[in-house]
Amino acid sequence: MQLTEGSDSPLHPGPLDTVIRNAAVVDGSGGPRFHADVAIHRGKIHSIGVGLAGRFQQELDGAGQVLAPGFIDVHTHDDYAVISDRSNLCKISQGVTTVVTGNCGVSIAPLNIRYRPPPPLDLLSGDPDHFFATFEDYFKYLEDSPAAVNVAAQVGHSTLRVATMSDLQRPADAGEIKRMRRLLEDALRAGAIGMSTGLFYRTAQASTTQEVIDVAKGMRERGAIHTTHMRDEADAVAESLAETFRIGREADVPVIVSHHKCSGTRNFGRSIETLALIDAAARQQEVGFDVYPYCASSSVLDVEKFRDATRIVVSWSIPHPEAAGRDLAELAAEHGLSQKAMADRLQPAGGIYFMMDEVDVSRILAHPQSMIGSDGLPGDTHPHPRLWGTFPRVLGHYSRELNLFPLEAAVRKMTSLSARQFNLSNRGLVRPGYQADLVLFDPLTVKDLATFDHPVRHSAGIHLVMVNGAAVYQDGAATGAFPGQVLRRS
Ligand SMILES: [Zn+2]
Repeated sequence: MQLTEGSDSPLHPGPLDTVIRNAAVVDGSGGPRFHADVAIHRGKIHSIGVGLAGRFQQELDGAGQVLAPGFIDVHTHDDYAVISDRSNLCKISQGVTTVVTGNCGVSIAPLNIRYRPPPPLDLLSGDPDHFFATFEDYFKYLEDSPAAVNVAAQVGHSTLRVATMSDLQRPADAGEIKRMRRLLEDALRAGAIGMSTGLFYRTAQASTTQEVIDVAKGMRERGAIHTTHMRDEADAVAESLAETFRIGREADVPVIVSHHKCSGTRNFGRSIETLALIDAAARQQEVGFDVYPYCASSSVLDVEKFRDATRIVVSWSIPHPEAAGRDLAELAAEHGLSQKAMADRLQPAGGIYFMMDEVDVSRILAHPQSMIGSDGLPGDTHPHPRLWGTFPRVLGHYSRELNLFPLEAAVRKMTSLSARQFNLSNRGLVRPGYQADLVLFDPLTVKDLATFDHPVRHSAGIHLVMVNGAAVYQDGAATGAFPGQVLRRS
């Protein structure tokens, strides 16, 4: 094989940037691992083979390690975090190289307001100055000041509502729908990859199904997708799936069900039914879904909306930051208040809600079409451990320890499957010509260490993380490189 430098002139052979030798390559396809050297040049995977010859500026030994495509976190709320903490340590320390933002109906653009954004928009930031009037502005900012990770961004339907409606407690009228469509069009033209909804939340719960269809129509022509935090993930989870599929059919757009779950003890075990509904729909239309590997959710603090929780832990509070990490029931008892009254006193605030069954979580994770998304909330004082632990938890706990699926299947759920469903071209596989987003980890020790009591901890076993060919995490620390790209809709 003739290896050439980036000038592409075989007359001037020069050293390639990097070779990682002797790793077990888990290439993201789901196929069995194989031992090979992987050469990287100018941000891309150059060649793969046993005993690659040629000169390299850097040789790394991958013996005993797995080399996989960098993980794609398909469900994040990192819209502002990729600006405020460009190292994205909570993500790169897990092997994540790409984040999809703008989930659950909330995105950092397009919004131009002078007041604190209403929940759940404030999960991104409580400061209106942190929002961007257009996606063009947001992407330009990110390209001028890149993060460690790549960013693919969606437009939030709730953000569109806040941007265009004076009263969120009713469906949008024809004029408002027209304005939302215009903002969505602008965002897609700038490179946003799709639109999310959060019909569960108070900012969007008054939206009719037809409103969403009318806003989302025409997205397929632009190669965009639609993701949703459904209206109900508890008693009405089946009806909500039906609504989601209808939106996909009538707006003619691929749909992805975010953080699929069956909430509340009454609904434990119903993932048999919901996964069958998803499978049946997927035979007729494009349907995908993601999941995080925990039995608790996290969001804004709202004891009425999360009334199915058996336990609530405060994750942040503006007036009472000392409440973060405390059990809401205990706090309420100390103050002689109901949980509702205690929650009111803590607002604005966030919570962690224990409301799912381990059997459902495992069953959804084990489904061959489930993707992994953390849903981590990077601004929280006492975050849900999913922010720091999601991906190693799937690899270590669910794949290696519980043997729920092979490592190759686990990696596929966080790489090629995600890249395909979110239309991220040239990512998610270890293949020549693909971007060199890579993670080198120890398959015997990789494991999440973040817990509900100690949520801010690096995972074990992640040795090297590369984004577009540059190391961003090595030997347990961020390298300080910021090679992340904006992944505009192609
Ligand atoms: Zn959500």
